[in-house]
Amino acid sequence: MSQYKTNCLCGAVQITAEEINPKFTVCHCQSCRTWGGAPFFAVKCGTNVKIEGIDKVKMYESSSWASRGFCIECGTHLFYKFKATGEYSMPVSMFPNLEGLEMDMQYFSDIRPSYYCFSNETKEMTTAEITTYFAAKI
Ligand SMILES: [Zn+2]
Ligand SMILES: [Zn+2]
Repeated sequence: MSQYKTNCLCGAVQITAEEINPKFTVCHCQSCRTWGGAPFFAVKCGTNVKIEGIDKVKMYESSSWASRGFCIECGTHLFYKFKATGEYSMPVSMFPNLEGLEMDMQYFSDIRPSYYCFSNETKEMTTAEITTYFAAKI
């Protein structure tokens, strides 16, 4: 099993993930775009994640099903964490040397603003499809 390490800009928070799926997702929802100023490019990191410097991590509950974590010293956006499963998604740019990186899925494709678009051919899910999918899971 390989380990993937990364840290926030100031280094107060160190993260180690055991498994990362290099097929990353892009989320166009308003929360992600408000949070980061752009769509959220994220890799799925599962639950086997070790965080050092957790006292420097502030969690913000951005919806009833997930929270977002950031470093209180430098503001680096660290992760999106699903409450039900404890699974982490982290910014793909925190792991720039991952092999096989590929844009795989675009979430909330129906509310993607008209001022950008990607030429990558990916799967897409609309708000309605996502709502249906998660309703079936819960
Ligand atoms: Zn920091
Ligand atoms: Zn989003």
